[in-house]
Amino acid sequence: MSNHFSPSTPAAKARFARVLIDRAIRRELDYSIPEDLADRINIGWRVRVPFRDKSALATVVAILEESDVSGIRPIEAIVGDAPALSPKVLELARWMSAYYCCPIETVMRSLLPQVIRRGEVGWKKQLFVRRGRAPEEDELDKLRRRAPRQAELLEAVLKLDAPVPAADLLRDTSLDNQTLRALQKRGLVDLREQAVQRDPHAEEQFVPTTNLTLNTEQSAALAAVAQALESRASAKPFLLHGVTGSGKTEIYLQAIRATIDSGRTAIVLVPEISLTPQTVERFKSRFADANQSVAVLHSHLSQGERHDEWHKIQSGRAKIVIGARSAIFAPLENLGLIVVDEEHETTYKQEEAPRYHARDVAVLRGKLENAVVLLGTATPSLESYFNATRGKYQLLQLTQRVDDNQMPLIRIVDLRLEARKAKSLTIIGDKLHTAIISRLEKREQTILFLNRRGFSTSLLCSACGEARDCPNCSVALTFHRTANRLSCHLCGHTATVPKKCPACGENALIYSGFGTEKVESTVQQLFPKAVVRRMDADSMTRKDAYRETLRSFRAGKIDILVGTQMIAKGLHFPNVTLVGIINADLALHMPDFRAGERTFQLLTQVAGRAGRGETPGEVFVQTFTPFSPSIQFARHHDFTGYFDQELEFRERCDFPPFRHAVLITVRSEHEARASFSAETIGRRLREALPEEFIIGSPTPAPLEKLQRQFRFHILMRGEAIMRLSRLVRETLDKLPLPEDVTAAVDVDPYSLL
Ligand code: ADP
Ligand code: ZN
Repeated sequence: MSNHFSPSTPAAKARFARVLIDRAIRRELDYSIPEDLADRINIGWRVRVPFRDKSALATVVAILEESDVSGIRPIEAIVGDAPALSPKVLELARWMSAYYCCPIETVMRSLLPQVIRRGEVGWKKQLFVRRGRAPEEDELDKLRRRAPRQAELLEAVLKLDAPVPAADLLRDTSLDNQTLRALQKRGLVDLREQAVQRDPHAEEQFVPTTNLTLNTEQSAALAAVAQALESRASAKPFLLHGVTGSGKTEIYLQAIRATIDSGRTAIVLVPEISLTPQTVERFKSRFADANQSVAVLHSHLSQGERHDEWHKIQSGRAKIVIGARSAIFAPLENLGLIVVDEEHETTYKQEEAPRYHARDVAVLRGKLENAVVLLGTATPSLESYFNATRGKYQLLQLTQRVDDNQMPLIRIVDLRLEARKAKSLTIIGDKLHTAIISRLEKREQTILFLNRRGFSTSLLCSACGEARDCPNCSVALTFHRTANRLSCHLCGHTATVPKKCPACGENALIYSGFGTEKVESTVQQLFPKAVVRRMDADSMTRKDAYRETLRSFRAGKIDILVGTQMIAKGLHFPNVTLVGIINADLALHMPDFRAGERTFQLLTQVAGRAGRGETPGEVFVQTFTPFSPSIQFARHHDFTGYFDQELEFRERCDFPPFRHAVLITVRSEHEARASFSAETIGRRLREALPEEFIIGSPTPAPLEKLQRQFRFHILMRGEAIMRLSRLVRETLDKLPLPEDVTAAVDVDPYSLL
């Protein structure tokens, strides 16, 4: 069964194909279609074509009846057995190229997983055994006497109703390959290679679940989505704003069920970090009846697994795709629903070209395919909520936690007072300390959150003042005690830990600032009897470490879990009644207009981990700026209050969502050349762009040096984003830069560092 996106075969006269080869040459090329491929090739097929004196992989983007290219060469071969991209996804790619100011070839590269694009990995083949010719009358008896092992194996084979993997049969019978080959020689068994599916979840058992009875708010939300699904006309995207624990996922599950029942398919986007076994299990279990119908795409799959999952989607066997960012391009046919969970997550934005935002691409794909788009979150992004207040999105709200569990009580701890009392750096203030003790006594669990890895975040010489900075980046190196190394969190550079200051030779090094590693060891010292575990990118390097730690935490074997973002999202532990945010100011002091928004979101999300069970939760937020609005509004669970005041600030400053931003980063290993090029680009833009667009002057980026490159920024803003993108592209195309200077354009940037 294969999935043909376009039902019509190419017209009889269609003898040429226009293709995009997998290299950014900024040009589409024409090739002739050989006779034997004429009735197969269509838009979206991957092909191999001659290019210069080699051959290259390419994608067919149009079928032509004529071509005016002289000396046109034929397509060499087709790749795969069905088109890899649908015409709709190709349309999406063209839009992305224009909107994100990015060559179409670069966009195409992110539409297909590398293993599909390169076509290097194939199906996993396995040897299968089935019956051969029927044994003659006394043949089995003879074998019993002369070759008892062959006889034993033959008897096992004769009992088979279906082919089985040879390896399984030999294991079950405790016989060897030689015996099997001997039977094959006699023609009594038949051995054949067969493709098998690599299933990343093969070992797991999924207990089927059924729809829960929804509460009133949930029913109203689902009814709106169901109605849009039924009408099949292009509906406005929905923004489902539901507090943590309000049962959003249950609504996704039931909306997907309705989609599948109407014969259509669904994509569920989840931030990579929330794509946990727990999440996947919830979906696989609900749709366990339709075995195989759920495909999962994420970065931890092996190349082979990704190949198989992708083909499961392309062949139409999978009806539901769950995945991170790039799953939005999944080759599903007859798409009915796109869910974007945690729509506010910045990881939906890709930080390399094409710098697309998967939520925004989802909205467009939904529009192109008449599919319903459902964006869900407890803390909507300012952009999405703004769209809802302006009627571009339809707002659905869940204000209550399921089972009427209360929202956790949030207490703000003023670190200025704590520091005065303690006369030194406070990691665990008095109030949080007392709260942890009471949890340990009651055998309830605690989560401590700090958004920074490592032990000490800087190493400074008190004699000469020299800090240990990364040689490649303008940041301090972080000391990691377990590994006993200094490391740069931006470029990965590592260094040994000096005993004396390498600059002046004095024995006067001071470690300051702290990360999760230090929190873990401090907490362990303060509470020696408690079981403390840390969960961050350093402690979770082994493949199953994450799963194991979560499992023991759930089983109550860990009292205190210390971690970074990794523990902030989507996890659901009924016995966690205390959450401590060690330092809420980390995100707040970033040089970024979204700093306040991120802090509000983070506090709300982390706080949402507390009190998911019977006992109400308590949250302690330690901060040096207790009166900052994002902290105060988060404390009162007041999203709209927060939204109103933040929106006012954004409007005053002409920032998104009122204007789109476009950020150009000019980079070079030579500071002067980067600076000079940035000045030139800035001047040209000012000449080329009409006055409606705001063009900032070129400035050194907040992160001046990254991976040996000096960086300069030009920040532009405007309402008509398509026009701004086009003008920027045209200006840059006309301006040759020195070889060692690059200029990257980021439309709707999320990282302003
Ligand atoms: P959210 O996604 O909003 O954080 P979830 O969908 O994870 O919330 O729901 C939280 C918990 O409540 C889950 O364990 C879920 O199974 C349960 N739940 C959701 N809806 C209902 C319902 N209508 N009745 C009973 N339990 C529900
Ligand atoms: Zn570095």
